Amino acid sequence: MLADLPHASPDPLWSLISTFRGDPRPERMDLVVGMYRDETGTTPVLASVRKAELRLAEAGASKAYRALVGNATFNVGMAHLLLGQDPARLARQHTMQSVGGTGALRLLVELVARATPDATVWSSDPGYVNHRPLMTAPGLRFETYRLREEDTGFDLGAMLEDLAPARPGDVVILHGCCHNPTGIDMAADDWAEVSAFCARLRVIPLVDMAYQGFGDGMQADAAGLRRVVDENPTVLVAASCSKNMGLYCDRTGAAMVIGPDAAALVPVSPMPERIARASYSMPPEHGAAVAAALLAAPKGWLREVEAMRQRVAVLRAELGAALEAEGAGGGFASLGRQKGMFSLLPLGDRAMQRLREEHAIYGTDRGLINVVGLTSAQIAPLARALVRVAG
Ligand code: PMP
Repeated sequence: MLADLPHASPDPLWSLISTFRGDPRPERMDLVVGMYRDETGTTPVLASVRKAELRLAEAGASKAYRALVGNATFNVGMAHLLLGQDPARLARQHTMQSVGGTGALRLLVELVARATPDATVWSSDPGYVNHRPLMTAPGLRFETYRLREEDTGFDLGAMLEDLAPARPGDVVILHGCCHNPTGIDMAADDWAEVSAFCARLRVIPLVDMAYQGFGDGMQADAAGLRRVVDENPTVLVAASCSKNMGLYCDRTGAAMVIGPDAAALVPVSPMPERIARASYSMPPEHGAAVAAALLAAPKGWLREVEAMRQRVAVLRAELGAALEAEGAGGGFASLGRQKGMFSLLPLGDRAMQRLREEHAIYGTDRGLINVVGLTSAQIAPLARALVRVAG
């Protein structure tokens, strides 16, 4: 059997991370991994999370098996976080705890594949690197749509032109906020157009919400999603608690299915549980229990998310200013306007390789960097190096 396995090379992103870890140069910069870092360069456990964890440990709750659907309190909390308090909207959702945002995407696409195996999934180009492998895993077709014309920002015309051939039942992935990798988000008017387009073509929006709270704020970042839910009969949502709760390795997320009404969900809701049962059975409890505590009494947590959001914005502005001071070309100008942790630099693979080899600066080959992987002290040397390899 083993000799018959097709060749698979190691995951390129994780290979790059391991090369970084072996780089002895003290000035090395890791802008690869999509994790929030503070000014000391560490990914902190949030104070609100620490508090919840201590309380959970003291309560000494049992580690007995839980439900296939995961932590029910967490699921309700996530539904409110994503959809707001509107009872009509909430009545139309079924939410299930997942193994991170990735697990949510996988559960949802498995669901689609069981309902409409000949559906095509449409994702942005450039887009999140793991969308294609996830969506094609159960055998669905995968197509891309343009999101922007180089550095002119979001381009609704290009997006809708590319999506025009989509058929009823196809799935369109939309990033809820803080688009990975471009940092280019849709404005409210764009959401209105895209939502109406999905309803008209009867395609299913799948909103990937991995950074709620990192763009314009926790509620503002969900506005596009809520509009899509109000105007489309069927919507899928994959949410991650990795970034906004810092629960990266606790693998905490939620998969949400929205139907036309509550009755339509009754026959649907056992299916994601059956899919989970056949893959990992139950999701891990710890992260969801912590998240449920944060969602139930969110004040301290929301303050911490707001501080992270502001730090991202400050770093972006500082990097933009440093690039300007170095006389960087127009391609870098949009960096300050983008949202979220990531930016796609106007640099090709060769320039990114030079950044690694000559300056010990690690981004990914497509020019993607995690801006919040930076400390303030690293901004000037990064700007200098970027201008050098771009020239
Ligand atoms: N979707 C997008 C757009 C992401 O950027 C990420 C992770 N960086 C995920 C999903 C997956 O999130 P998680 O780490 O919670 O699986």
